[in-house]
Amino acid sequence: MKAGFSLTRAFSVTSLLGIVAIAAVLGLFYRWVSVENLKSHVTRANSELAQALANTLWGNFAGLLDHEKLGDDLSILVDSPLVPHIDAEVRAKLHGLSVLKVKIYDLHGHTIYSTEHSQIGDDKSHSKGLRVALSGGSSDKLMFRESFNGIDGPLAERHLIASYVPIFNDADEVEGVFEIYTDVTDLVESTNRTAIQVLVVVTLLMLGLYFYLLVTIRRADRVLRAHGQRERDEREQRIRYLAMHDVLTGLPNRSQFNTMLNRAVGRAERSGNMLGVMLIGLDRFKVINDSLGHEAGDKVLTEAAEWIGRCVHGGATVSRIGGDEFGVVMENLFSHEEAGMWAKQVLEHFAEPMAVDGREVVVSPSIGISLWPNDGQDTKQLMNSAAAALHRAKDTGRNRYVFYTDDLNSRALERLELEMDLRKALEQGEFVLFYQPRVDVANGRVAGMEALLRWNHPQRGMVAPGRFIPMLEESGLIVPVGEWVLREACRQCQAWREAGYAGLRVSVNLSLGQFRDGDLPESVATALSESGLPAANLELELTESTLAEDTSSAGQLLRKLKAKGVSISLDDFGTGYSSLSYLMHYPIDRLKIDRSFVRDIVSNHEHEALTKAIVLMGNSLDIGVVAEGVEQREQLEMLAALGCDEIQGFYYSRPQPANKFLSVVAGIEEGWVEGETEELQATL
Ligand code: C2E
Ligand code: CA
Ligand code: CA
Repeated sequence: MKAGFSLTRAFSVTSLLGIVAIAAVLGLFYRWVSVENLKSHVTRANSELAQALANTLWGNFAGLLDHEKLGDDLSILVDSPLVPHIDAEVRAKLHGLSVLKVKIYDLHGHTIYSTEHSQIGDDKSHSKGLRVALSGGSSDKLMFRESFNGIDGPLAERHLIASYVPIFNDADEVEGVFEIYTDVTDLVESTNRTAIQVLVVVTLLMLGLYFYLLVTIRRADRVLRAHGQRERDEREQRIRYLAMHDVLTGLPNRSQFNTMLNRAVGRAERSGNMLGVMLIGLDRFKVINDSLGHEAGDKVLTEAAEWIGRCVHGGATVSRIGGDEFGVVMENLFSHEEAGMWAKQVLEHFAEPMAVDGREVVVSPSIGISLWPNDGQDTKQLMNSAAAALHRAKDTGRNRYVFYTDDLNSRALERLELEMDLRKALEQGEFVLFYQPRVDVANGRVAGMEALLRWNHPQRGMVAPGRFIPMLEESGLIVPVGEWVLREACRQCQAWREAGYAGLRVSVNLSLGQFRDGDLPESVATALSESGLPAANLELELTESTLAEDTSSAGQLLRKLKAKGVSISLDDFGTGYSSLSYLMHYPIDRLKIDRSFVRDIVSNHEHEALTKAIVLMGNSLDIGVVAEGVEQREQLEMLAALGCDEIQGFYYSRPQPANKFLSVVAGIEEGWVEGETEELQATL
């Protein structure tokens, strides 16, 4: 509704004007109809009267009509002896009627008789009404006279109707005209009175109707206004709510979180009580989102929001302050241990798998905590400190909480610097590949090697992939860098084959970003044709989460790659969304049992049983099984006994730079092991 528009006002002004107009029109119309009626009624009566008078008097007029002999001055007719005679006749005939005056005209329009004698002889030929009557019609006129000379003397304030009535002879020719004045004062006055009554009654009725409508409309207006106001209020509330809340989870958003934190800092300043900020990031949320789909990702976020809400202490509100980041303001803390306790509760709650669309997903949080006043005096500093602590938690293995310490800010800066350097690393040739041998259990020979990416940073030295691959993935740089890895690994493998190790197979890790890119089969083909490496000597390593992303297109892509002759292995088997159906549906050549199983295989019977089951399953599906992260002889022996095909791990060798690789291979094949070849160890 347009602001300021009032239905009531619009209605009242127009309808009041309308009522006045309608009442006036009705009153005037009534009066007009009544007067017209009266006139025609009186005229009819008068013409009868005139005819009656004519019948008795006409003979008497012959003398009067003969006035031509009298010359121009007809006034002398007054003295005619006929006049008193006619007077008497007229009086006799008019007795009891309301006729006040009678005049008679000849065919020239001259007054040959009038009850008012002074008018006898007047020339009235110019009168319109008279002319109408002379030509055979009749006419009448209503008039008002202040004073009037009637038959019985002067009268005051009279309404009169003057009718001209033609008198016809036997041959139907007009012989003369009677003019009869009838007194209609009473009738006109009563008509006027009635008209006024009609006007009053109509006005009253309409006013009644008007007030009835006014009340109704007022009420409608009020209802409409109230409704409009309510809608506006609701809209405003909704806008305010949206401005302050996250749509998905319904939690306060970042800006609202900042406001709340601001207020909390103010309260802490007054009370002196300790205040904590807890930032919670969901680990690898991007992978969950990419592999299970956005809908499932949204569900994980909503569920996580609820879980966090259950863990935080009395009254603290959880806010969603970023894609996969939540914030909690903890007020009135007794000690920093209390903040740690809340964080621990969150971690414990998330240890349970989350049910999403019928699947169980393990979502782990990383938590950064900053405390007022030590880690920041204001909202901004507190948030920066908590963010630095969160980064630290993620960098040091995730699924943990970290309190802010002063050195963390410098780490955050370092990360930023690293990101900028990474953009230049490819063109400046700072990437290198290390190779870790894979040993065939059956004969103790090196069957191949995994190419592992390193960044040789000009200032920092060798940087491990765990620190920069996530950055490459986030920025999309993983695609060009991955292409480089493919080409370089193929080139190196072919060079070693040509140097006498023809059986060597190289395996290259692929990220989800590369898998999705679409150009992967072409990149693989280019790397192979450029290097001359036979496709059979190239293996591509994928993780389960990469496959989970999009079942149909993943299958297609894998078959395309397989068709080129390369082999596919499933990396980190057992950690992701392990599903045996992957093994059935995809053309997989090898499984790589994850380090975490191998680590405690000797002490953990469950892991032993699981590994055994994986090997058996692999055998029955004709899928090779590789054990990764083997560090001890006992692990090696157990895995060999369980029937693993290949072993990879520090036990044989750490990943090596290319120039040292062949001597490591020689060492392994001659029966040396890691512990005995100190000089061959790389630092990474
Ligand atoms: P991954 O594919 O699981 O690679 C094996 C990781 O386990 C390597 O870590 C290797 O050094 C380590 N490792 C091998 N044997 C042992 C052992 O006995 N004990 C222990 N504790 N660790 C062992 P690295 O080189 O740091 O690589 C980490 C991850 O980075 C890789 O895990 C892989 O996911 C990724 N990555 C490495 N290179 C590339 C690459 O070229 N492209 C892509 N997309 N990812 C890569
Ligand atoms: Ca791998
Ligand atoms: Ca692995």
